[in-house]
Amino acid sequence: MNRGGAMVALGAVAVGVVVVGLAATSPSGQQAVREVAGRVGRLFTLAELTVSSAAKRLGLDNTPTPDAEQALQFLATYVLDPLRQALGPRMRVTSGYRSPAVNEAVDGSATSQHMKGEAVDLVVDGIASDRVAALIVKSGIPFDQLIWYAPERGGHVHVSLSAKRANRGQVLHAPAAGGYVASAVGRV
Ligand SMILES: [Zn+2]
Repeated sequence: MNRGGAMVALGAVAVGVVVVGLAATSPSGQQAVREVAGRVGRLFTLAELTVSSAAKRLGLDNTPTPDAEQALQFLATYVLDPLRQALGPRMRVTSGYRSPAVNEAVDGSATSQHMKGEAVDLVVDGIASDRVAALIVKSGIPFDQLIWYAPERGGHVHVSLSAKRANRGQVLHAPAAGGYVASAVGRV
């Protein structure tokens, strides 16, 4: 029994080594290694905060600028780490940093905070976006803009925080019909 357990554990270690090895020898080796090793905040990797299905699909570069990486650090420290601390891995970032090309590909706003590393879209498995937004407001986590999207528009929560200017603490809802409306979620 014990011996079997040890073999399983060794197998898991071996898988980890293979993953690192692949990253190190991939075409963009430098970047891949940095992403494997790179922490943003305490509980996130740079890979998690630069994930983009559009970038992958279209082969677009989505490497953050040093400025954007610093902004991601700030966002992770004050917003994302506390959320993951409270909610665990079911709190997932679905879109973080977007290079200008990626932002254009997803029809993002021309002034999108995603391009500055100041915003992410996130979901919490099993909790609807209005409840996630309410939870953030209630927790006292700081934010510039908090937008909860109707399921028809992705059902995610957009949250931003800037280190460079005063944060607005603005809560909006993105209804199924389109556009944005002020929302008092969580304030009652
Ligand atoms: Zn967003």
